[in-house]
Amino acid sequence: MWFRKGLRIHDNPALEYAVKNSTHVYPLFVIDPHYMKPDPTAFSPGSKLAGLNRIRFLLESLVDLDSNLKKLGSRLLVLHGEPSDVVIRCLKEWDIKRLCYEFDTEPYYQALDSKVKLRKWGWIHHLARHSVACFLTRGDLFVHWEKGRDVFERLLVDSDWAINNGNWLWLSCSAFFYQYHRIYSPITFGKKYDPTGAYIRHFLPVLKDMPKEYIYEPWTAPLSVQTKANCIIGKDYPNPIISHEIASKECKTKLAAAYKLNKVTNGVVTDEDMQNLRRQLVENADQSQGTASKRLKQKLI
Ligand SMILES: Cc1cc2nc3c(=O)[nH]c(=O)nc-3n(C[C@H](O)[C@H](O)[C@H](O)COP(=O)(O)OP(=O)(O)OC[C@H]3O[C@@H](n4cnc5c(N)ncnc54)[C@H](O)[C@@H]3O)c2cc1C
Repeated sequence: MWFRKGLRIHDNPALEYAVKNSTHVYPLFVIDPHYMKPDPTAFSPGSKLAGLNRIRFLLESLVDLDSNLKKLGSRLLVLHGEPSDVVIRCLKEWDIKRLCYEFDTEPYYQALDSKVKLRKWGWIHHLARHSVACFLTRGDLFVHWEKGRDVFERLLVDSDWAINNGNWLWLSCSAFFYQYHRIYSPITFGKKYDPTGAYIRHFLPVLKDMPKEYIYEPWTAPLSVQTKANCIIGKDYPNPIISHEIASKECKTKLAAAYKLNKVTNGVVTDEDMQNLRRQLVENADQSQGTASKRLKQKLI
């Protein structure tokens, strides 16, 4: 029995099948070096593919699985190496007649191979995932959804290739969901679900004494308030990296243009179409910047 993702003895149809149809069962888990080997160049401690929380969660799950198998008079065999090579070697050496494992919706290579809370705990609430995903992609920063997907893949303890990709596609309005004009504001979203800012105070202790009126926009607090809260913006806590009001409007304009192109071309968008669209958007942005600075100059005169 090759354990891969469902590291449990209950609710495990593959294990049930293996037990019912064999005289002996060898429970096996293979540690993939690609998944485990420390990578000092990765953006957070861990390997190339998994952060420390994910690795710890995996090891704890293996210990738990082993202790449950022990209760049944068995043990978990943990081997190290390229999983497909190891499994094939075991099949030959142990003269195994049948290999059982959990069916996986992920491509094989993937199966093998909020921020502060995510890094600390490896888990964030579904709505926090919404907020992060929207902010990074179509809401503010206009960064490709795959970048966010990769960070979640690495840090989430419940990371799942299909669910993670599906949700990022959804949140970024790249597939499944198309209401790109509905953007979560990082400020009002927090105010609505956590008016006192308890979540922020817990994970960002530097803001713990900021009055609740300013907790979601600490840069708007008067200097006297910042001083009293021991948190000077620009020194103890960074200035905003973007203006949500401006960025979200720009994102909407870009997405509207992309959707229009998709409609006009009946879904057959060529590389050339995309290049033209990008050029057009850059020209529009330059023009509006020019108009804005002209207006500013007029005001100054
Ligand atoms: C950008 C983004 C990435 C995500 N990546 C993952 C991921 O890698 N792995 C993962 O398991 N979930 C992912 N989710 C879905 C969801 O956030 C988690 O399943 C949820 O946080 C788990 O918490 P819970 O067990 O308390 O679920 P509850 O909210 O109590 O829901 C019950 C169960 O329903 C399922 N579920 C709930 N919401 C979703 C959803 N949107 N999509 C699919 N299943 C759902 C989960 O299995 C969950 O255990 C992602 C969501 C977003 C927005």
